[in-house]
Amino acid sequence: MSNYYQREIETAPRETLRALQSERLAQTVRRVYERVPHYRARMEERGVRPEDIKSVDDLARLPFICKQDLRDTYPYGMFAAPLREVVRIHASSGTTGKQIVVGYTQKDLDIWADCCARAIVAAGGGADDVLHVAYGYGLFTGGLGMDAAALRLGAVTVPVSSGNTPRQVTILRDFGSTILCCTPSYALHIAEVLKAQGCTKDDISLKAGIFGAEPWTDGMRREIEEQLGIRAYDIYGLTEVVGPGVAFECGEQTGMHVNEDHFLVEVIDPETGEVLPEGTQGELVFSCVTKQAFPMLRYRTRDIGVITRAPCSCGRTLVKMTKPRGRTDDMLIVRGVNVFPSQIETVLLEHGYTANYQIVVDRSVNLDGIEVQVEVGSGIFADTVKALSRKEKQLEDALQSLLGIAAKVRLLEPNTIERSVGKAARVIDKRKQAD
Ligand code: ADP
Ligand code: ZN
Repeated sequence: MSNYYQREIETAPRETLRALQSERLAQTVRRVYERVPHYRARMEERGVRPEDIKSVDDLARLPFICKQDLRDTYPYGMFAAPLREVVRIHASSGTTGKQIVVGYTQKDLDIWADCCARAIVAAGGGADDVLHVAYGYGLFTGGLGMDAAALRLGAVTVPVSSGNTPRQVTILRDFGSTILCCTPSYALHIAEVLKAQGCTKDDISLKAGIFGAEPWTDGMRREIEEQLGIRAYDIYGLTEVVGPGVAFECGEQTGMHVNEDHFLVEVIDPETGEVLPEGTQGELVFSCVTKQAFPMLRYRTRDIGVITRAPCSCGRTLVKMTKPRGRTDDMLIVRGVNVFPSQIETVLLEHGYTANYQIVVDRSVNLDGIEVQVEVGSGIFADTVKALSRKEKQLEDALQSLLGIAAKVRLLEPNTIERSVGKAARVIDKRKQAD
């Protein structure tokens, strides 16, 4: 099944796409050089002039932009359009440090809606659907981003935003929502509340979900699909680039197609900044080539992923990126071994545990300072203390053999870990809190 929203571009021959990207890149470089003093200064530092950037092959000559550049120019210093032309402001949710502010012209909003509409259509959505948008509405890009796309498709939009989970469940049932949009952790929580209300997946009409804004594993995908009786699609984005819809999953569910007629993607070595070949894991870097108000060029995301241009069975020619494993900021270093929370999640789910877990980092816990806390079902928790500690030990051994890390495991009673209605906080770093 291949559903396209903009077939011509989604399936364009690579050469056509490249020519378009090159032309748009050159235009955007001129735009930022002329309009954003910070960009011009950074380009001058590297001795690059706008006329040096003629095609996508010249991309690597441009300087990188990182979060610090955005903090230094807070709030409007990176805008490449006057405020008179800007019609919307969003801000990052501030998961890691001070929030950053981005702006959109009407044309930027239109393109963004197209990008998210591609995601909805790829997930089988259209005018006949009822889209339940449980991403937060507000400065966070999730809610309004998906909302604009649903509107564009003529679907029924249910702008519930996040929170008040029992009400979410009532609305899902009563309004006959067919597509759920929220973070994957919130989707699981909605499923949990549905069950607690004595309902099953047969009491709702959902057929698909479009989940993103945080890392999630394939194990978690299966869990959500099973509990809600849907197909769960991934969507990726970040405020600095546009919001959701930078990349989206097709029916193959093996990675996300980057909307690369608007956003060019590179993978770099996070240490050296060197561009890595296709298929190699590294930090994702994006360049916006059609944005007017906030065109980031070579923006370092700190997200770790892999890209591939191997043909996809859906017929799209857009490059694919793997689910990002997480951000370099979230990476834990346990006795010299690098590990992402998502790798721990994979082990937990493979061993039949829930995705309700958190990782506590605290030097006083044990030598390595990390403790994995995971909720178990009430049945297991009724086991003897001895049986529980045996299970904890088994999981510790699994983490050791599969990831090479020595972590302490603690099994918790059901409903002891706080549920998030947006991005789940997987890592609690007590060392940072103590500072
Ligand atoms: P903040 O940076 O404050 O969290 P954003 O909402 O802009 O605000 O977050 C974007 C980040 O969310 C991305 O850089 C990435 O780390 C994460 N993210 C978004 N979508 C996904 C996804 N599908 N898979 C994994 N991580 C994702
Ligand atoms: Zn595909």
